[in-house]
Amino acid sequence: MKDLSFYMKDSIKQGYSLGAYNFVSMEILKGICEGCKKSLSPCLTSISEGGFSYLGEDFILPTFETAKKHYNIPIFLHLDHGKSFEICKKAVDLGFDSVMIDGSSLPFEENIALTKRVVDYAHKHSVLVEAELGVLAGVEDFVSASTNIFTNPKDAKIFVERTQCDSLAVAIGTSHGAYKFKGDATLRFDILSEIEEALPNYPLVLHGASTVPQKYIQIINEYGGNVKGAKGVDENLLKEASTKHNIYKINTDTDIRLVYFASLRKHLKEHEENFDLRKFNEVAIQNISDYISERNEKVFNSKDRI
Ligand SMILES: [Zn+2]
Repeated sequence: MKDLSFYMKDSIKQGYSLGAYNFVSMEILKGICEGCKKSLSPCLTSISEGGFSYLGEDFILPTFETAKKHYNIPIFLHLDHGKSFEICKKAVDLGFDSVMIDGSSLPFEENIALTKRVVDYAHKHSVLVEAELGVLAGVEDFVSASTNIFTNPKDAKIFVERTQCDSLAVAIGTSHGAYKFKGDATLRFDILSEIEEALPNYPLVLHGASTVPQKYIQIINEYGGNVKGAKGVDENLLKEASTKHNIYKINTDTDIRLVYFASLRKHLKEHEENFDLRKFNEVAIQNISDYISERNEKVFNSKDRI
């Protein structure tokens, strides 16, 4: 089976992206893997530091290895937003395929030093490293945005040369969470193109790229939830980033949570007598799987790439 570094290069060459999907439970991992199997897409599963401690490190690897064997497609495990050398080292030692060291809140030189330290350790163990430069905005930051929250193309080149990181998360207008934008969202493709000129054929990563499908927001609100005014990134912008730019990986976390909770709320309201978690989780896994396969096919263009 092909490894992650193959897909890193291939996705840029062929104009697709890998969806990097976060999981915090076996049910969500199953939904992600089933969706990728359905669309025959390489499957990149992510776990954050929070997810790491929630699931427990002793559970993560055996669960992941079982999924790999069971689904028999390329499935990779990535650490999302590791904030310290220690957490990245732990993920490397556990056998992750890839780790992210997020030093984006540090001054430039400190980010370089921390990233370089992680790269040196991870590469010794054949593990890939993603780093981040530029700060992902929250809603308030975005409104008062000055250009320094975006990744500076010249800095990006220096950063990659000095750290030798394998991929770089860039800030071009996305932000984390379900409340991304007050107005209409735009991605700064002009800045992205400048980064691509400075770093030709280099794998870039987009964070904070949930679409926040209104269909699921409506279900959540109709069945007792209260998620108002949530807004994500337009699918067409993500498709453009996937197919026409060197974005090899696009992260999705919030959407999966929304699909899960919409499924849960609807099922419980319609079956008030039910107290068997398998019944609502079956529905949730199916809906996550449908969401993932559709996103792989229509947005990330990763169908039939395995
Ligand atoms: Zn992120």
